[in-house]
Formats: sequence, structure tokens, C-alpha cells
Amino acid sequence: MSESIFLCAISNIASGSCNEDCGFCAQSARWNASIERYKTKPIDTIVDEARAAKAAGAVGFCLVTAGKGVDDKLLEYVCRAASAVTAADLELTIIACNGTVSSDQLNEMKKAGVSAYNHNLETSERFFPQICTTHSWSERFEVCERINAAGLALICGGIFGLGENEDDRKSFLLSLKKLRPFSVPLNFFIANDSLPIKQGVIATNEAIRLVAKARGILGDAPRIMLAGGKEQAFGTRLTEAIEAGANALVVGNYLTTEGMHSGALRRTLLDAGYAIATPAECGAAKKAHHG
Ligand code: SF4
Repeated sequence: MSESIFLCAISNIASGSCNEDCGFCAQSARWNASIERYKTKPIDTIVDEARAAKAAGAVGFCLVTAGKGVDDKLLEYVCRAASAVTAADLELTIIACNGTVSSDQLNEMKKAGVSAYNHNLETSERFFPQICTTHSWSERFEVCERINAAGLALICGGIFGLGENEDDRKSFLLSLKKLRPFSVPLNFFIANDSLPIKQGVIATNEAIRLVAKARGILGDAPRIMLAGGKEQAFGTRLTEAIEAGANALVVGNYLTTEGMHSGALRRTLLDAGYAIATPAECGAAKKAHHG
């Protein structure tokens, strides 16, 4: 497996106030979590964040909106943001993450420079109704199939530590494998007093074991990306998670929580002998993925 680590940054371009009831998500309006909420972020700010992501070593830049999906107005905004980042010529893979999406909407995003789309399965089909009742797991799976059919690189993962059992974890990873994702973001639940799910942070040994389990089931092909909660789950043992099979990391902040400082993250990787993946390596990986 490559020793280059892929870094990806996230920009929360429309935050909070989602009508869905995902029990792990502070952006659901149901839980009244104290987070920053805004309808849209100025396009110039998004481009500045893309430049900062590039400077931090990111090869991917993800435009995230809270909510079940996008209407025409939000689609136009996402496309405007993607076009502006494309025009800045930063050699970033532009990823969109905007919930349930139609083939036509995916094609519009592609025209604006989006080449990958993130939509997570989150957990197993069996356990999903215990963490969300406003939409179904099968709907999520179908959206992922649509993303593949549209020729975008599928970024699809989920979240551990919601109370799922070991069979759920296996079933979730086997479902992911069927979708042949380009990249698999793994999140680790962080409790928040407002959220209905009451689970402690997953133990570090357990989190490392889950990364190894994911790599074992998914095989060598996809990037396995440590995402939300990696700081709390792995602490100072981040490189052990990489040894266990992860080869991508979210750099910078998450949607509603702060991440490790990008300089400290890079130093941790370089000190441990890893290289930071370049845009050319990311491009080659995407080409190989699409065959
Ligand atoms: S649909 Fe997305 S933004 Fe809305 S509550 Fe669920 S995870 Fe959060």
C-alpha cells in the first residue's frame, strides 16, 4: 500500500437547521445543539478556505451543505462555489456533499468542476432505523449507486460508536464494499449533551481494531479516511491507525467541531515517515479507480 497519505479538507458552506433526525448530528434542528448556523457562506470565503486547504496539503476540498438534499437555489449555489474553486486553479479535487441528489443535479455539479460526491451509508441497514427515522438506509444506498452511475468518484463511509454491534459493523462494511467507493470516511461518534445518542468515545484500541477490520473487508482499493472524532478516538496514536490501514485524513476543522491543527497533523505524519499525497497522486488514484 502507498505510504502517501491523502489529506482532504471540509467546508461547511450551509450550516445547521436540517429537518432530518439523524441522532448523531448536531446539524439536525431537532436537537437544538449550540452550533453556528448560516444559510450560505460567501463564495470569496469558500475560495479563501480552499487556498488554506491547499496550503495545508489537502488534495481534496469538500463543499458540504446540511439538509436532506438540494433545491434549485441551493444547487445553483453549490455549482457557483465549485466553479469559483475551479477558477482559483488550486489542483484540488472538488467534492460535493449535499445529501440526496438526482442524476440531473449530479450532472450540473460535474459541469461546475465537481468530480467526487460524498454520501455516507452511516451504519448497517439493520441498525439505521435506530439512528434516523426520517429517511431510509436503502435511499442512501440508491443515492450512492446513482453517484457511481454518474461517473463521479464515490466517497462513502459512516460512523462508529452509536451503539451498533459487531454484526452491524461487519454488515455496514460489506455493504460499502458492494458500492466500490473511491474513498471511505470513517467517523467516530462524539457525544454532545443535545444529541439523543448517549455513547462514550470509542476506546482507542477498539478504534484501531475497527480501522484494521475496515481494511480487511474493503481490501486495498479504497482510501480509508479518518474523519470526525479521530482526535478523540486515536489521541496520540494516530499513526497506529494508519499502520492498521488508514491512508487518508481529514485536515482542518469538521462541520461543527474543531480538528487537530493542520501543521501539527502534517508534522505527525512527516515525523513518522509518511509523505503527503500530491494532486498528481490523487489524479492517478481516481483514474485507476474508474479503470
Ligand atoms: S441529513 Fe445530514 S445534516 Fe441532516 S441530520 Fe442527517 S446527517 Fe445531519
